[in-house]
Amino acid sequence: MQASLKLFRIFGIDIKLHFTWWFVFLLLIWSLSTGFFPQFFPGYPITTYYLMGIVASLLLFVSVLLHELAHSLVAKAKNIPVESITLFFFGGVAGITKEDLKPSSELQMALAGPLFSLVLAGIFLLINKTIGNGIIAAVTFYLYQLNLILAIFNLVPAFPLDGGRAFRAILYLYYKDLKKATKIAAYGGKFFAGVMLFLGIFALIGGESSGLWFIFLGGFLYVIAKASYEQVVIREALSKIYVFELISKATTISPTMKFSEFVEKYKNITEDAFVISDSKFVGILDFRRIEQTSPEARAKLPLKQLAKPLSAIKHLQAKDSAYTAYRLFSEENLELLPIYENNKLKGFITNGKLMHRLAWNLKYGVHDDKNRNSKNSAKVNRT
Ligand SMILES: [Zn+2]
Repeated sequence: MQASLKLFRIFGIDIKLHFTWWFVFLLLIWSLSTGFFPQFFPGYPITTYYLMGIVASLLLFVSVLLHELAHSLVAKAKNIPVESITLFFFGGVAGITKEDLKPSSELQMALAGPLFSLVLAGIFLLINKTIGNGIIAAVTFYLYQLNLILAIFNLVPAFPLDGGRAFRAILYLYYKDLKKATKIAAYGGKFFAGVMLFLGIFALIGGESSGLWFIFLGGFLYVIAKASYEQVVIREALSKIYVFELISKATTISPTMKFSEFVEKYKNITEDAFVISDSKFVGILDFRRIEQTSPEARAKLPLKQLAKPLSAIKHLQAKDSAYTAYRLFSEENLELLPIYENNKLKGFITNGKLMHRLAWNLKYGVHDDKNRNSKNSAKVNRT
């Protein structure tokens, strides 16, 4: 089953629903119809409350989508590709794929979402004030509140929330050092996460079940703040290395060899990346296919059936950065990727070698090619 369902495409961006969204959607309808609306707007039949709950939940979904679209459209205006927007359990994520973001672009992109939520809050408040009371007033009041919360929550300087991204962009402009800027902004994220955890525990002790939400959100924010910083550290280390520096000749095995023979022959080799190749076929051994077959079948299977053909694998260019390789490894989920130069297969890079190099860079601060460094910083300044 796919984790996300594609809904439609707008401005060249795929809008997707993550499966976790459904849980929150149903939970929201239920809590609005049986809690919020009857409590604050009494006197209507239960079916009306359910109708209000469904409409309010759908419009909240539209509000979150518009918030993400605001980010994405600013990105597109800055020529930054946006592939998709995925709405998941408590918000949305715009899949923005650019590696080097100019801080001023990131600042504008980050602020566009919460500012648009503020505008939406204003619109819903205006409708609410114009109508006065009744069902529509109740629904618009709820949407005014939620959009306001969405805007304020996303303006807190807690990385990687929007406000934290804006904060990092300002720090980046000031220090001219992305790693340092991210580190400080991620501290903001962890601090805010700590505050939410503390408030959540406090609320729970006081008998408020909403404390659980704070604990959940705080914990989640802490984890992503930490992971986002690590991602920047990895990116910085790997973007200074060319993949051709890590090129190797992979162990090549005949496609007709049986899996049982292969296991026996290579049991003492630490390498876990293999090319399956003869005059007619070139592919990469895909260990996931092995896991999908029964133990009886896999003993007899020729390796060709456990290989992914080279033509079906995205490949790297010799001048690509090791960070591009890192991303491609997680995308393709293979241990080996082909490297091309002038449309010719030059060799392979293994995930093991990439990870080894990353570990050495991070642990021992290996110095990378100076030219590459200065070229990189020139590129950052120019873009
Ligand atoms: Zn946002």
